[in-house]
Amino acid sequence: MTAIHLHNLVKRFGSFTALKTMDLDIRDGEFMALLGPSGCGKSTTMNMIAGMESPSEGRILFDGKDMNGIAMGKRGVGFVFQNYAIFTHMNVYDNLAYGLRMRRLAHAEIDRRVKAIADFLQLTPLLKQPSAKLSVNILQRLAIGRSAIMEPAIFLLDEPLSNVDAAFRAVMRTELKHLQRQFKQTMVYVTHDQLEAMTMADRIAVMDHGVLQQVGTPLEVYNNPVNLFVAGFIGSPGMNRLKGTLAECDCGLVVDLGPLGHSAPLSPALAAAARENGAQAVVYGFRPERVSVVGPSEGLALKVTFVERIGARTVVHLGDGEQRVKTVFDNDVGLLAGGTANTAVDPGSVRLFDAASGMAIR
Ligand code: ATP
Repeated sequence: MTAIHLHNLVKRFGSFTALKTMDLDIRDGEFMALLGPSGCGKSTTMNMIAGMESPSEGRILFDGKDMNGIAMGKRGVGFVFQNYAIFTHMNVYDNLAYGLRMRRLAHAEIDRRVKAIADFLQLTPLLKQPSAKLSVNILQRLAIGRSAIMEPAIFLLDEPLSNVDAAFRAVMRTELKHLQRQFKQTMVYVTHDQLEAMTMADRIAVMDHGVLQQVGTPLEVYNNPVNLFVAGFIGSPGMNRLKGTLAECDCGLVVDLGPLGHSAPLSPALAAAARENGAQAVVYGFRPERVSVVGPSEGLALKVTFVERIGARTVVHLGDGEQRVKTVFDNDVGLLAGGTANTAVDPGSVRLFDAASGMAIR
């Protein structure tokens, strides 16, 4: 296990800055996901940790030791890419054994470790199979096995599941988490898929446009996003974000939701934070999962625009123009497109953002 410390890390490609002053501490044995949309700089960060790219500025420390100038092969990292690096002319056993043979380990030790990792990744029945004949799913499992067998102190995975099918991806999410618990490596996992990050990571580093936006546990980034980007990116669908203006009324501070003709009350704590912040233009945020359907004269009346049934879940799209709301229900709530839904938001789940800066008010 090794702790990784990124200090003021910057990466420029010519005049383009792909990574802007990143500071991140990854703890010993931690599963850290680097999460963000395409082009946000997550692979660039990973490549610098691996030693495939050098930082333009800043430092990378492993257990306090500066990695500047230390070659990839000497860093004790294992790397799994989206494109599995497998020797197709070898069978599964030889692919797994390859790195250990290069290290000149004793034959019996290689055999023990190959069998253990094959057992763990359910590759045992395939050990004698030529790799050229394996499915994409199995190839990716083998690529993970080939890296894991070396028992690297740091395991780096860059979108390892993006080429495999959805059912296999779900299986691998559990297996990768299990693998990390078993081998206790420090794991850095690059993904644009928030579900992967939410289900596997101990903590998530959310990135956008080369800037680290927030670092926290899956629940922290889900419940308390620091800004509108994180609020929208985390969750499926992301947090609802309605434009509004703060207004005082007899009942305290409310958010006037403009064209929706509704004033949403704020909890005393949120009202106090909003008064202190001083912003007038705000964004009223709430999770699609925290909306309920109420009686016809109650709550916020919104037009039902679209109803999506995704297995057991129903996603209902409400409202139009800029003030659109998505809601998620675990059952069929009987709403139909073209009708009206009266909805109420769980007040404890409301988050408020300064519309000008996009930052959370709390
Ligand atoms: P993706 O999932 O699409 O790979 P990412 O978040 O991993 O996205 P990076 O690959 O880190 O993004 O790229 C960040 C930015 O840096 C992108 O705009 C990319 O085009 C640019 N970039 C990456 N490598 C280079 C390079 N070698 N030369 C020039 N620009 C690069």
